[in-house]
Amino acid sequence: MTAYDAAVIGAGAVGSAIASALTRQGARVALIEARGDVGAGTSKANTAIWHTGFDAKPGSLEARLVARGHRLLEERAEEFGWPIQRVGALLVAWDEEQVARLDAIIEQSRANGYTRARAMSADEVYAAEPCLGPGALAGVGIPDEGLLDPWTITLALATDAVVNGATLLLDTPVSRIDRVADGYSIETPSGVVSCAWLVNAAGLGSDLVDRAAGHSGFTITPRRGQLIVYDKAARDLVRHVILPVPTATTKGVLVSPTVYGNVLLGPTAEDLEDRTDTRVTPEGLDFLLGHGRRIMPELLDFEVTATYAGLRAATEHSDYCYAVFERYVRVAGIRSTGISSCLALAEQVCGDLAEAGLVTTPISTPRTIRMPNLAEDRPRPYADADLIAGDPAYGDLVCLCERVSAGEIRDALASLVPPRDTDGLRRRTRALAGRCQGFHCGARVAAALAGRP
Ligand SMILES: Cc1cc2nc3c(=O)[nH]c(=O)nc-3n(C[C@H](O)[C@H](O)[C@H](O)COP(=O)(O)OP(=O)(O)OC[C@H]3O[C@@H](n4cnc5c(N)ncnc54)[C@H](O)[C@@H]3O)c2cc1C
Repeated sequence: MTAYDAAVIGAGAVGSAIASALTRQGARVALIEARGDVGAGTSKANTAIWHTGFDAKPGSLEARLVARGHRLLEERAEEFGWPIQRVGALLVAWDEEQVARLDAIIEQSRANGYTRARAMSADEVYAAEPCLGPGALAGVGIPDEGLLDPWTITLALATDAVVNGATLLLDTPVSRIDRVADGYSIETPSGVVSCAWLVNAAGLGSDLVDRAAGHSGFTITPRRGQLIVYDKAARDLVRHVILPVPTATTKGVLVSPTVYGNVLLGPTAEDLEDRTDTRVTPEGLDFLLGHGRRIMPELLDFEVTATYAGLRAATEHSDYCYAVFERYVRVAGIRSTGISSCLALAEQVCGDLAEAGLVTTPISTPRTIRMPNLAEDRPRPYADADLIAGDPAYGDLVCLCERVSAGEIRDALASLVPPRDTDGLRRRTRALAGRCQGFHCGARVAAALAGRP
């Protein structure tokens, strides 16, 4: 039985950010994750937009935390080396009904404290995005929306927690939680963890954790989002995040570049019962292709590199389900914006726990880490002659599509939070993520994972 100041359940972007912040505050933290890796839930499969929160519900916690998180992600980008690209978003109206809603969208963004959204005529829309399909009537420019790298952000924050003293427990599903006099006793297959504060950041499993802890504030309904990833050759078609006019239930289907240099089309929004159903379906792809044909017909002429689906942790509430009571912090229902808001959520949790009586002494000089770069807008190791001269492994390309070197794979395997499977290695290096999807490098990557030369 180990005593922690706080046990954080769930090592997605949100739980990892909270664990990192609490650890830097000097708390003894356990970060408990059911899967064999960090960031292997919803945080690995989303649209990777760096949201400003312009379109959130005014007055909601989500609106405040996404806006704050947007700033914090940029402020800490240099420290961690994660890429942030302020490409801007273009919200496009395709019929008169949508045009009539644009003023209200600009008003809403102002109510959220975002003042840089501006109305655009059809001519301005086409000048900004020349490959847009015919029929766009008007738009709204949101210059501060952008792109982020969800894989690196989550891994960076989990690693930051570990390097500063947190205990990361992988393959550790929480099965039972007991309230004890001075906190909680958490049963897992590998033993009992005791803590003064319990933080529920379990994403799709957060309502089950909530009930295990004796509460019943909400129910998760997984809302699946399927996406198509287009080849990097399509990247020059798209300059901004191209958004539709949102509806009450979804932000809608967008076309967006990624920091990795691809173009995304998606997501769908389908309410499911199965919390594990990340299948891509023929109906889902048809739906996306229908939208893609209208938004940017030329995009459909390019090769598809991959398809995937992620599950939003939707609830019956429109806002985040956040509460602090009885030594328990509920950080749930973080549906569509959690990568953008994760640092603000962590800041909120730290502040609330300090106010609720968690007394700690912040680490005066936290150890810092710098993440390998996976983005296309800055140099990668294969292009760095000095680096290769010092260590030829960075010039030995294993994954030719994504230009991933043996040196990067070696570094990932030797890192503080190493991958345990090909999916984890892909998220740390981009090996296997390119247009051949591992046909060329799969055997060599598998050998490296198995420790064979
Ligand atoms: C299609 C789609 C598009 C999106 N687009 C964006 C976007 O563009 N920008 C943005 O900012 N956000 C976006 N999001 C939202 C974002 O991905 C999520 O808000 C964020 O990943 C939530 O992080 P999390 O840490 O709460 O959840 P997760 O990443 O799911 O982490 C929760 C973790 O808890 C673990 N867990 C669950 N139960 C237990 C248990 N009993 N014991 C131990 N561990 C447990 C899980 O294994 C999981 O790893 C999108 C989401 C989807 C699905």
